[in-house]
Amino acid sequence: MAHLWISGRQKAWLAVRLPDTGVALFPDRERPVRTLSPSSPPSAVRLRCCGPARHAGPVWVLIGGATHPVRVNGDPLSTGLRLLRDRDEIQLDAGVRLYFSAEEVAEVRPFPGATEKVFCPRCKLELNPGEPAVRCPAPQCGIWHHQTDQFNCWTYSGGCALCGHPTELAGGLRWTPDQLKSS
Ligand SMILES: [Zn+2]
Ligand SMILES: [Zn+2]
Repeated sequence: MAHLWISGRQKAWLAVRLPDTGVALFPDRERPVRTLSPSSPPSAVRLRCCGPARHAGPVWVLIGGATHPVRVNGDPLSTGLRLLRDRDEIQLDAGVRLYFSAEEVAEVRPFPGATEKVFCPRCKLELNPGEPAVRCPAPQCGIWHHQTDQFNCWTYSGGCALCGHPTELAGGLRWTPDQLKSS
């Protein structure tokens, strides 16, 4: 699940999970990220989810607002749209600075289904929509495994059945914007 890092009080960074319905961004230091709804003003900068693809994670698109300027990594949105990449910096007026992160965390959630059949790499059986499952958080992998009482395919061994990524559950996010200063 992608998220935005926002600068909270005392300059600590807070991670906000991006809901599939998207968010509206405002040049408001107190509440820059709000749920996108039909009543969101057209002036707002929008962040919308397009996808997900079968294995790859969802694609997030930043859509410029009518009056609120926005920059990504320092560049104005010349076309009004931009596909966001991991660790892109989003700047709004009033000094609001956010970071987009595509980093995923391994967590159990209902398998959302896909346009084609998806087979678990551990037990080789098909995954059915709604079944508890874990999507491998490795960016180059992203394959789904069962994680039910009967089929604990994700936690069955220490590594993803396809790429070997550690199968810990409830692990924290590894990247924060604080790491930018040191890199
Ligand atoms: Zn399985
Ligand atoms: Zn994997």
